Amino acid sequence: MTGFVRTVTGDVDPVDLGRVNYHEHLFQVSPLLPGDDLDDEAASADEAAQLRASGFETMVDATPLGLGRRPAAIRRISASTGLRVVMTTGVHRREHYRSNHPLLQARPEELAEAFVRDLTAGAVEPDEAAPEAMTARAGVLKAGLGYWRIDAAAGRTIEAIGAAHRATGAPVMVHLEHGTAAFEALEAFDGVGVAADQVALAHMDRNPDPGLHAELAAAGAYLGYDGAARAKDWPDSVLLDCLVATAEAGGASRILLGGDVARRTRYRAYGGLPGLRYLGERFVPRLMVKAGADLTDAVLRRNPAMWLTWRR
Ligand SMILES: [Zn+2]
Repeated sequence: MTGFVRTVTGDVDPVDLGRVNYHEHLFQVSPLLPGDDLDDEAASADEAAQLRASGFETMVDATPLGLGRRPAAIRRISASTGLRVVMTTGVHRREHYRSNHPLLQARPEELAEAFVRDLTAGAVEPDEAAPEAMTARAGVLKAGLGYWRIDAAAGRTIEAIGAAHRATGAPVMVHLEHGTAAFEALEAFDGVGVAADQVALAHMDRNPDPGLHAELAAAGAYLGYDGAARAKDWPDSVLLDCLVATAEAGGASRILLGGDVARRTRYRAYGGLPGLRYLGERFVPRLMVKAGADLTDAVLRRNPAMWLTWRR
């Protein structure tokens, strides 16, 4: 494999990433999640250390712009815990912002400029006059879609992601609400120069349909599985069965695994359960038993390394 993966503490050879959790959040503040702010650096650092101890060497922080993302704090946490972090730039779906938020009104050219700056020069926290050394560069571009919806704001974000991707080669993630509009998202990205094999479809397992997943994998896309520990929606066994069935139908090289715990009330260091360590401690051992060592290695190491590698 050639190329590099961009982490907040520097560029890394893809083969050195180790086990990757493709989707978590160290910081996130959203009007959509009242009472669930992730905004305490010490607590988030504690949670990150628990994730590292549970067997992951790298995580993607999937919080895009305007949602309390804290580049300098992410970098400090990565340095103190030894957990590599790939930071995200981009814009989430509109429900995560107040209705007149500038990110929902900005022209694609303005968004693209902001994204490229984050990816290449680095991001600085708005409230922190960070010295150059405390900036952090993003390594992933992200858009957010609604339930079967690509609205005008999402269209502008996708156009901007296309420009930023063409300029840098950075990989792309897209939030799919309940796993919907996956082919439509791939089509929209293809239209702006982002090939399916650069795109991770986040929350694909919220629609645990192995036939659909195999078709998306055949189209080249990465499938984000990040819905474990959601017993009120489905047991983990549904995700394990779907993952193995998708792999057997040809998608083994496309599946990514993350936790997307994302809420203060689910983080142990903030007083909740089950914490970021659940995935490594409870889900991965079951994956090993059910999927075997080779598929587990693909899901945790090889696939995310391929996805996260910057390509021109
Ligand atoms: Zn998320």
